[in-house]
Amino acid sequence: MNKSLVLFVTLLALSCQKKTENLNLREGLHISNVSIITTEDGNYSPYIGHLVAEKDKIVYIGENEPPISGKFEKIDGTGKFVVSGLIDNHVHITEVQGMLPHHMEKYPELTKEFNSQMPKSYLYYGFTTLINLGGISKEQITSFDQGPYKPDLYHTGYSGASVANGYPMNFAPEENRFETTPNFIFIESEANNIPDKFDPADHTPKAVVERIKKSGAIAVKSYYESGFRGMPKLPVPTKSIMKELLEESRSNELVLTVHGNSLEAHSFLADVGVDVIAHGLWNWEEYKDAPRDSLPLPIKETLDLQIQKQIGYTPTLTVIAGEEALADDAFLNLPELKKVVPNKLLEWYKTEEGQWFAKELFSEFDVEMVHGIYGNIQAHAMQALKYLSDNDGFILFGTDTPSAPTYGNQPGYNGYWELKLMKEAGVPLNKILSSATINNAKAFHLDASIGSLKTGKKANMVIMSKNPLKEIEAYNSIEKVVVGGEVIHRGDLGVKD
Ligand SMILES: [Zn+2]
Repeated sequence: MNKSLVLFVTLLALSCQKKTENLNLREGLHISNVSIITTEDGNYSPYIGHLVAEKDKIVYIGENEPPISGKFEKIDGTGKFVVSGLIDNHVHITEVQGMLPHHMEKYPELTKEFNSQMPKSYLYYGFTTLINLGGISKEQITSFDQGPYKPDLYHTGYSGASVANGYPMNFAPEENRFETTPNFIFIESEANNIPDKFDPADHTPKAVVERIKKSGAIAVKSYYESGFRGMPKLPVPTKSIMKELLEESRSNELVLTVHGNSLEAHSFLADVGVDVIAHGLWNWEEYKDAPRDSLPLPIKETLDLQIQKQIGYTPTLTVIAGEEALADDAFLNLPELKKVVPNKLLEWYKTEEGQWFAKELFSEFDVEMVHGIYGNIQAHAMQALKYLSDNDGFILFGTDTPSAPTYGNQPGYNGYWELKLMKEAGVPLNKILSSATINNAKAFHLDASIGSLKTGKKANMVIMSKNPLKEIEAYNSIEKVVVGGEVIHRGDLGVKD
């Protein structure tokens, strides 16, 4: 062997066993011998290894134990599993579940207790990142961020980009609906119903998106909803409004996510090619009586177009389940709820007054009828989701907690429920985990900092005693949650008995 060849071989050998650098930590965390479950592209190859964080960043991840010195907390991960912190891309942290504003005013104590528990309840089920998809005020953002234990919160501005008098503006009292929806969009058909003091120039898609961008949002929320439950027909965006919203969002590096759950909405949004649809396709309109195991051609074609364009699809199955829950007395006695809802509020839900929404929805139906109707809608929602999953649709995890003033969508628990319903629909466990981590991070342009376990990313993670690629119950076997490098024991997150 000549000299240069020897040198080459030696160099090759050296580079193969690249020595792990010593990690000198000041505020470190070392999770040792843990099963690491992470992905960049949806494929998982779990392995037992080590994960090291310094302050809020991951600084090492790999099979070999690196030499570590300095100050750090060590967690023995033997027999445990670590995943990237879960992301829920559709929540409303501005609500108190089951209450309307007048209830919150009447019961400030219940409201206060709920709001101080709510961020912890999300963490209790492993959600370290939330995206608030609706109106939120500066004060609400600040107050959420002040909590001692809280997920990272992202938002879509001080109001959604709803067309004038469209959904969900229609729920606001007429006297201040335009004031409380500062980002409403001018639409010609409503020109005569918009108070004169609002200048249409301030309510073009361009002006609205720029305002949303300035508020520190990461996405624009819009809506395509012509009404439900006997509402009068609501105005919906025209194609040119939606296209302009999409273009303006993209040129401002924002994501356009749009409410829609009907065939009409999904096909409109698929055609425009929005980034994310904030709900699944469960309102099959003229196909609403289709057999539970069938997929009518127009539904299939709409889903095919979404798959082809890789539009983010957010099933939000708990929207249906969380309303249906109001028909069942058993729901409020679920032991899991005691960990995420203050006891006094749980008690209030059981009172005459607390049952207001249940009465409004279901007073004319018996329980069996409710389950019949909702069961059918849910079967269709699951059918659409299964098709998307089988055909490599871009599935994103989102709950819409709460989707209505229902106590059926509780923070944290609702996320666990959603995960279980996705499993029930037939989505494989690896795809469920990706939907709540890397897919959401990519869809909302957050993947440079979260969504997977990788050197340089934020130390947001969940340590479980069961394997989430083997059983869905793993998501209820959480032992510790790490947010920005801070280790929180699950026991410190639940409501105290
Ligand atoms: Zn919502």
